[in-house]
Amino acid sequence: MKREFAVTTGSNLRCKGWRQEGLLRLLENVLAVGEDPDNLVVYAALGRAARDWPSHDKIVETLRTMDEEDTLIVQSGKPIGLIRTHADAPIVIMANCNMIGQWAKAENFYDWEKKGLICWGGLTAGDWQYIGSQGVIQGTYEIFMRIAERHFHGDLKGRFILTAGLGGMGGAQPLAGRMAEAAILCIDVDEARIARRLEIGYLDERANSLDEALAMIDKARAEKKPISVGLLGNAATIYPDILARGIVPDIVTDQTSAHDLVYGYVPDTMTLDEARSLRKTDPKRLMSESTRSIAKHVTAMLGFQKAGSVVFDNGNLIRTQAKHGGVADAFDIPIFTEAFLRPLFARAIGPFRWIALSNSTSDIKKIDEFALKRFADNKIVTNWIKLASQYVPFEGLPARIAWLGHGDRTALALAVNTMVREGVLDGPVAFTRDHLDAGAMAHPNIMTENMKDGSDAIADWPLINAMAHCASKADLVAIHSGGGGYSGYMTSAGVTLIADGSRAAEERLKLSLDNDTSLGIMRYADAGYDEAYDEAAAKQVRHFRLTPA
Ligand code: NAD
Repeated sequence: MKREFAVTTGSNLRCKGWRQEGLLRLLENVLAVGEDPDNLVVYAALGRAARDWPSHDKIVETLRTMDEEDTLIVQSGKPIGLIRTHADAPIVIMANCNMIGQWAKAENFYDWEKKGLICWGGLTAGDWQYIGSQGVIQGTYEIFMRIAERHFHGDLKGRFILTAGLGGMGGAQPLAGRMAEAAILCIDVDEARIARRLEIGYLDERANSLDEALAMIDKARAEKKPISVGLLGNAATIYPDILARGIVPDIVTDQTSAHDLVYGYVPDTMTLDEARSLRKTDPKRLMSESTRSIAKHVTAMLGFQKAGSVVFDNGNLIRTQAKHGGVADAFDIPIFTEAFLRPLFARAIGPFRWIALSNSTSDIKKIDEFALKRFADNKIVTNWIKLASQYVPFEGLPARIAWLGHGDRTALALAVNTMVREGVLDGPVAFTRDHLDAGAMAHPNIMTENMKDGSDAIADWPLINAMAHCASKADLVAIHSGGGGYSGYMTSAGVTLIADGSRAAEERLKLSLDNDTSLGIMRYADAGYDEAYDEAAAKQVRHFRLTPA
């Protein structure tokens, strides 16, 4: 059967209530905007919305028929059953890809995935929270702008950014670079990925050779005009080539799927098709070839760093893989979270999102207008909303992202819930956030690298976060751990709330959103961050400041 990937829109309910209907529309949405929906893959090579099609279909059937007093249990993308709870309990709770410590290895993950025992939910794929590339465009744009402030007098005009990877997430880089007014060169081994980003307008131009690409970048730099250029090729070949020519980009990063040595990264010694066929015939050889190629790739990144480029790891585990491949100084490259975003996370300011479940773009515009007034003195929020309305096309259900913290998230959500109740908006709105948020993620090579108190690998925080959401009446609560190459590297928690205009939704939004950011502040206060102490004191967060005995 050929499947259609469309989201049901409008105000008609197929379920017994908006809490179930909202979650169902979000599941439809992650597939509608995903990279490979036929295989249920949303992004990052293997990040799936459900384990397989029978699991998907049963989830859909259950959401359509279940009562509000029941809770659907999902284990690694497979619906297990319903339990009787009560109308204040979550509609869905799920655990995706959590493996026991000593066994949490990529090889076991691939084996168990093949046997149909497990699937990886990425961060926002398996719990149906992905809103298309706006989230990652915004995150990448903020990183570029923080670099601009720190190194380039706040301005990236005439600056050259070199990167690779134009996939589900990485495809946001050219648009973010252009919005930051830089000249950005993006390398990808897959012709189709370049074509797709050109087609949707995220990429301006395609070059046919490295010479042509560099000439386009040079011209744009000289004219101080923003441009994004795509080039077909392997980053492990092209980065060293650019370095050997003595060209020093201003900023260098990478967003290939380096975390996954089998289903993600393509080694420099083979074509894309050869790598794809080795996935089935000799995954071990592919893993070792990928590791060797990544070592070469990261050695060139280190070369750029020594030559003066600002180089950073954008969360794809490329330094970790390179270190396994023998690059002893791979961690001289900083991770973006620690380098640029930690002061925000320490105040529990992070990527908050809302999605118009009716599909009404005017709902998002009305919320934009409200947010611009309500947060008029918050430059990060107002700047992004203005830029996003101009540059970022809606994908799937219209949605918006903004970096908001404790109290502000709740204020916005409650105001929106009132707008839904009073008929100002065309329909209910879902609220969610990235797992990469203050109290919600332990990832010692991304989110929690070099924490002040050494608590990088302690996974209690996301588990507490998820339990707190269950106790705070959230609509969907998820605990995820890494799969593929992320196996054993991370644990995180996700939450979704449906603002359907009801008083019950008001209560859920207030409890869950306030407790989420309270826990974020507590997590950073516990690790000794001054910003978190300040925020806890300013916003009456009841954190106990105990000194170790
Ligand atoms: P994806 O699998 O959709 O795309 C990866 C792209 O890399 C593909 O287009 C592929 O052709 C290309 N590629 C692979 N090997 C290459 C090579 N050697 N040279 C050039 N191109 C190559 O993955 P995605 O969703 O775009 O995610 C990319 C990575 O970023 C993942 O590791 C993901 O987990 C990570 N990520 C991190 C953050 C964050 O924390 N900031 C956010 C989103 C994604």
